[in-house]
Amino acid sequence: CGIVAYIGYREACPIIIKGLRRLEYRGYDSAGVALLNDTLNVYKKKGKVQELVDFIEEKDTHAQIGMGHTRWATHGEPNDANAHPHYSTSERIAIIHNGIIENYAALKTHLQQQGHVFHSDTDTEVFVNLIEEIKKQNNCSLEEAVRLALHEVVGAYAIVVLSKDNPNQLIAARKGSPLVIGVGKDEFFLASDATPIIEYTNEVVYVNDYELVVIRDGKLEIRSKEDVSQTPYIQKLELEL
Ligand code: GLU
Repeated sequence: CGIVAYIGYREACPIIIKGLRRLEYRGYDSAGVALLNDTLNVYKKKGKVQELVDFIEEKDTHAQIGMGHTRWATHGEPNDANAHPHYSTSERIAIIHNGIIENYAALKTHLQQQGHVFHSDTDTEVFVNLIEEIKKQNNCSLEEAVRLALHEVVGAYAIVVLSKDNPNQLIAARKGSPLVIGVGKDEFFLASDATPIIEYTNEVVYVNDYELVVIRDGKLEIRSKEDVSQTPYIQKLELEL
């Protein structure tokens, strides 16, 4: 039920973990992170953020780009496998998702026929495999694949997508679930609300439904449903620390 992501010059993991703690009030049953360095590492655990913290203590968490999630299960029981982030079959793309994909069952059957393998019972894992399949079929960019995938899913979402093949890039989108961008100097944050962000920057952009957010090489771009580039409307938050 909570999303945090970071791209910039600092260590991502502590920022993400702190952000997940700030979002704990929203309620959740599991937590996880994806961190991108030379590899795309996903760590996730049923239970409290603290259990995730204990779990990753000895793990490789070094990264300046990453994302974290607290899950409130809608499809599939609360367990480690169903916790987010979810990998695509190739493990080259990872996703976090708040919301529900209503047509996941039909999409899943189709994707299984195309050879995709599933490790969870979630609707979310279908989303990330759909992106991978579209990318392969169209031989297109990750951004384009996400955009096309959004046209095929029915339901509500706030998502963040990370790919091993695009190490300087975060892609996000929303429809019906909240998503805020924090605009720092040479760094960006994404979160379900501003609480994980305010400590780093007071400049935020509230993402609107159907918008696609691409943060790449230190630049923020927001594209409308019609795929037209929007000028981000940056709001100043009153800092309450
Ligand atoms: N529908 C997804 C799941 O059950 C996301 C739930 C959420 O919003 O945390 O895994």
